[in-house]
Amino acid sequence: MVNLARVLIPMLMQRYVEQMVEDIRKATWNVRPPRDIWYYADPLYDVELEDFSDLEKYFYGEEEPVSQITGIDAELLPPPDRLSENQKTLLTEELDNLLQVNHFKLLFPGKFPLNLRYAFIRKFWSETHVALSFGENEIEFCDYEKIFCPFPGYCDSCDEIEEEMRYDARWEEKTDFFEEGDDDIPF
Ligand SMILES: [Zn+2]
Repeated sequence: MVNLARVLIPMLMQRYVEQMVEDIRKATWNVRPPRDIWYYADPLYDVELEDFSDLEKYFYGEEEPVSQITGIDAELLPPPDRLSENQKTLLTEELDNLLQVNHFKLLFPGKFPLNLRYAFIRKFWSETHVALSFGENEIEFCDYEKIFCPFPGYCDSCDEIEEEMRYDARWEEKTDFFEEGDDDIPF
């Protein structure tokens, strides 16, 4: 007997993901207009944009669920282990696009695979944040401490910081050596 569930469930999931992609694309049409505060910003200056982002967060600092900001319910996003690698990659691209429209920039290491990003994005969807109406709201997952890094093997920032710390430690060893040497001088 053919195991119907084994055939049907992936088919249904594929249909579900395709419907989801359509809904995500539709959600990108509902963009909030920039708030008045942005009238004074010069879009050519990144530094200024950052300042204005902080100002907007300060003045309009009401946090909202990401679901509400984006118009896509967090519960609609399937758990990563129910999706194929291709489905996770596809949803990552579409959801990331919707986040960008809403001025969120999730910071992943460049070489971190798209299918693995899905779990982070799905979790982010259950968080609350201040919705910016312009500029970029950068979201970091890595605290630049290698043992806690959520992207082991992919994170250049953590590798660079570790290398710098190793360099500093070597430098300290060297200076310790000179200091000890000084003690040996008999006058
Ligand atoms: Zn890291």
